[in-house]
Amino acid sequence: MNADRCGKGGGRATARFAYGQDVSERSGTRDGPVRACWSCHGQTAASAVFCPTCGVVLPPAVLDHFAHFDLARGYDIDLVELDRRYFAAQRQLHPDRFATKSATERAHSLAHATDLNRAYETLKDPLRRAVYLLELAGIDVTGETKTSADPTLLAEVMERREALADATSPSELAAVVGAAEAEAERCRTGLSPAFAAADWARAAQLTLRYTYLARLLDEARARRGRPASPPAFAAAPK
Ligand SMILES: [Zn+2]
Repeated sequence: MNADRCGKGGGRATARFAYGQDVSERSGTRDGPVRACWSCHGQTAASAVFCPTCGVVLPPAVLDHFAHFDLARGYDIDLVELDRRYFAAQRQLHPDRFATKSATERAHSLAHATDLNRAYETLKDPLRRAVYLLELAGIDVTGETKTSADPTLLAEVMERREALADATSPSELAAVVGAAEAEAERCRTGLSPAFAAADWARAAQLTLRYTYLARLLDEARARRGRPASPPAFAAAPK
């Protein structure tokens, strides 16, 4: 994963006031939508976390997950920077800091923390990030009906499932997992240029495939954790 930002247009103007920046930036009222502070009624940026006038925590604004971290919208994000901004914001919103504050501020800080966690969990995962980017583009790839639309994918999924079901030894299981992991990696690699080019059809196709592979890999990992079931006819003489 490189740090290139290949999203189109990047974050909205309001993104500048999101988490993980210093207080002067975060609570600023530069361009972008504004709103009134619930406490002092002073003007704040719509996405500000804290009021620049009185310092209270503001209710969370409806932001896309990228804007929470002031990251440009795109598949290739800087994961180190995402981590840095997430942990910085988490510290700012730690419940201990609001223990002596009003119930309103405690509720708002908790709501921010919830939004922040959801955004972080979505963006740090390469599959969830892809699904989310498609969602932002109005494309739903998670609906079950989509499978039947791609018979080639359906056939491939069934074949891999069969191989997984038939794998009785650790080495056979490892082979199925290895092949699926390699294919998942190819999906990830392909998603980067697809999103960069706003090739939604290609991105959706790869994401759907990746979704099935990830599901298969989850099942394979769950099986690894269990004692291997003996093959049905293992005891039969040859
Ligand atoms: Zn205020």
